[in-house]
Amino acid sequence: MDEDWLSLLTPVQLQAVSVRLLQELKTARDRLNQTPNNSSRPPSSRPAWEVGPSDDETLDDGADQARAKPLNAEPPNTEPPSTEQANTEQANTEQASTEQPNTSIPASSGGGLRSTDAKSTGKKAGKQPGAKGYGRTQQFAIDDTIVHYPEHCAACGLALTREGTQAYTGWDEIEIAANAAGQAGMRLQVNRHLLHASDCSCGHVTRAPHYTAPEDPCWDKVALGQWRLIGPRLGGAIVFLALRMRLSRARIREFFIELFGLQLSTGVIDETIREAGRAVAPLEDAMVREIEQAALLHADETPWKEGRQLLWLWVFATRHTTLFLIGYRSLEILSNLLTAEFKGNLMSDGYLAYRHLPQRLRCWAHLVRKCQGLAESTDARVSSAGQTMCDVMRVLIGAIYDTRTMSSCPGGMLASQYASDIARLRCLCEQHRDDRHDKLRALAREFLHDWNVILRQVAEPHLPLTNNTAEQALRHWVIARRISLGTRSEAGTRAFALLASVIETCRKRSTSSWTYIASVLAAARQGLTLPSLPAMPGGG
Ligand SMILES: [Zn+2]
Repeated sequence: MDEDWLSLLTPVQLQAVSVRLLQELKTARDRLNQTPNNSSRPPSSRPAWEVGPSDDETLDDGADQARAKPLNAEPPNTEPPSTEQANTEQANTEQASTEQPNTSIPASSGGGLRSTDAKSTGKKAGKQPGAKGYGRTQQFAIDDTIVHYPEHCAACGLALTREGTQAYTGWDEIEIAANAAGQAGMRLQVNRHLLHASDCSCGHVTRAPHYTAPEDPCWDKVALGQWRLIGPRLGGAIVFLALRMRLSRARIREFFIELFGLQLSTGVIDETIREAGRAVAPLEDAMVREIEQAALLHADETPWKEGRQLLWLWVFATRHTTLFLIGYRSLEILSNLLTAEFKGNLMSDGYLAYRHLPQRLRCWAHLVRKCQGLAESTDARVSSAGQTMCDVMRVLIGAIYDTRTMSSCPGGMLASQYASDIARLRCLCEQHRDDRHDKLRALAREFLHDWNVILRQVAEPHLPLTNNTAEQALRHWVIARRISLGTRSEAGTRAFALLASVIETCRKRSTSSWTYIASVLAAARQGLTLPSLPAMPGGG
């Protein structure tokens, strides 16, 4: 389409072209005008200069009022965690765990190749094959010695005494010392674990074992066991810094060097996080059961990247439990999680995958934003329809809120009280069911298709109007995704979702996620029964 082509057209053809161009221009303008207030665009898409205190929508079910900071305020991070590095550097840790007890700690590969450099040179991130390894340089005094004795003779089964046993090997563990009651602060200590061997009267020499979890195909290259440089409490702290404080592996390394004079390689840090993920994995079943039994469940999803693969991070949030799953945006993940056991109300956005579930609820904030988007259209006709829809929704929202504050008012009254408004909305939707404006037509049909579900809150005003619970649960991890650029491996993705679930669930139950994850890690490393999830406050 150019000037030459236009000059050949008849006036009638020209007019048709103009109408089409005008329509396209309006659509393009509307798209430019989209903000988080009038569309499904996330709050994070808001430019930094537009963020103000008055920006949040009025709809809020009184859940967590403390909103996350605008995402744009986050500085760009050029130091993604390097899983590759983890693998190549695993050698460093194992080097530290040699057969001879020693006081050494693997030094980090500081000053190594940054992944940004790696991209430009086409090399893999992390230590390059053949590059010089870093030996053990850091020496610490031993605070405590823990001796592991063999209990019974491996040959004849006789109970062994602790007398006359000898250390045959051992390892050093750096741990965060447990504080005495009333003691403030945080101190690192080095524990030397010694494994002893004992001579039995039968002549057999039995060596005290150290627990190592059997290999698990779901956790490729993720070792779980007692012989670790990083103690469980220090491991829990690393998980907390990585997931809750959203620090990159490089920042966590810097944190321990600056504050504790402790040198840890990013490889060791990464390995510890994945080990913790494997340790908490058996808790997922308990969280799934609690979600299945929930009376009210909020669900939402957001894109997630694992390497170059596009996946979805799903969140399922109840009053006392939050579960994250990373997978494909498909029916499968829903039908696996929400079996026939689930009898509660499910609040979601309008995504089709939820449609088959009974007892659905729709987020009104999403719908109001869509109406608002139409109301701000440059097309006067569309704008007027959008404005009317918006007005009706707001009237109903006001009425629902009012009913909630008056405990005496029966819920069923609203539908008849506001029958004319509801009829006006219905009529408007019918009218625009086949509208030529794409968005107006889509919204009108969305209302009509899901009419009974959308209006459930009018009949049952105690039900929530928004999906804020799920959206807020995702927001923290959306920022984490931006910082870490997603995960790099299947094990890394699994560890992330599991640890995020445990952390958020602990927070909902007013329990320290750090100490809980540390206790789970300690038990898992010895093959013991895991401590169960923190109790739900006030039951239910
Ligand atoms: Zn014996």
